[in-house]
Amino acid sequence: MRDTEKKDKNNRRGFPSKKKSGKSSGACPIAEQCGGCAYQHLSYEEQCACKEQQVKQLIGDICKVEPMMRMEHPYHYRNKVSAAFAHKRDNTIISGVYAQGTHKVIPVDECLIEDRKADQIICDIRGLLKSFKIKIYSEDSGYGLLRHVLIRRGFASGQILVVLVTVSPIFPSKNNFVKALRKLHPEITSIVLNVNDKDTSMVLGTRNIPIYGKGFIEDTLCGCVFRISPTSFYQINPVQTERIYQKAIELAGLTGEERVLDAYCGIGTIGLIASKKAKEVLGVELNPDAVRDARANAKRNNITNTTFFQGDAGEVMVQMAEQQESIDVVFMDPPRAGSDEAFLSSIVKLQPKKVVYISCNPQTLARDLEYLKKQGYRAKSVIPADMFPWSAHTEVICSLSRTK
Ligand code: SAH
Repeated sequence: MRDTEKKDKNNRRGFPSKKKSGKSSGACPIAEQCGGCAYQHLSYEEQCACKEQQVKQLIGDICKVEPMMRMEHPYHYRNKVSAAFAHKRDNTIISGVYAQGTHKVIPVDECLIEDRKADQIICDIRGLLKSFKIKIYSEDSGYGLLRHVLIRRGFASGQILVVLVTVSPIFPSKNNFVKALRKLHPEITSIVLNVNDKDTSMVLGTRNIPIYGKGFIEDTLCGCVFRISPTSFYQINPVQTERIYQKAIELAGLTGEERVLDAYCGIGTIGLIASKKAKEVLGVELNPDAVRDARANAKRNNITNTTFFQGDAGEVMVQMAEQQESIDVVFMDPPRAGSDEAFLSSIVKLQPKKVVYISCNPQTLARDLEYLKKQGYRAKSVIPADMFPWSAHTEVICSLSRTK
């Protein structure tokens, strides 16, 4: 999911039933209010069939749709969990998710799609607030300190980052708070204060102050180690991510001679993994924190054939086309809104042999594939992948080749 940082779109908790068939009985008490698990009423197999069908409807006329890459264990896959806080009438503190389309907090202690440890840490942080006299921030009055808690857990590394989102950089008794939290969860490797003093729907602000550990976690994907800062994008389902990246790189058919562009590269994951099979990789990403991570990740993995640029992918592509750069393969993994015409028209000018498009929105993928088809890039097939089980979202991988 690419827009999970917006708090009122961040609802995603839900419980499938424990029936043998895997068919949900609507067991999650807050499924309707939360809205994250829109497919909770279907069995896992039914969901996948339904998502496949949607992709066929959108893209079936353009190219073949392969069977969906399913998850073997479609539970507790989310490596990033965030919680909002509020007071009940009796003044006790609750933590959980916003009811769909509102900022009313629904209490949640555990969720079958989220990392279990992350859920436990959130509950324990909630338990510490009163004794540390930490006040919950109220959007109405503007009073209070703590807005959200966000947890990130490295699937392979086990490292855990706790982000305390506050309106002020001053966190009373922060050292004792860190001590108390680490006593409960010694497995926490870093704690960061993220200051968000804006009147905004975004969960995170831009300023990060590490109060314990390095301020980021590391995780391993496809044999590369990645550093992930609080505000950088990182795929939320590591099991499926590895499979998707492997497929994308296989589809690119790299021989070691190619000049590759990784557009919308985040912390450089796809480009760095692909760099082992390419001559050179260029990465483009808008978020400066993610670009910093990408450069550090190249060093961390002793990779010397990559360069990362900070900027709008469309603008950078236009410049590259003007300078008549030579690019053999483009990986593109845009946010949900898809790519833009500046980017796509520059692909046509740069004339790479192959474009591997990874999309988290089949609708915008269909639009972009139509455009590229008219310009001489043909998709042979698309592979849907279930990156977000129980939700209505689908990830799709597609390789396009130049026909003209
Ligand atoms: N490929 C990466 C990131 C994919 S998410 C991965 O698999 O982890 C999409 C990324 O596009 C995010 O990191 C986001 O910050 C970035 N992004 C959004 N709009 C952009 C734009 N106009 N130009 C470049 N990058 C952009």
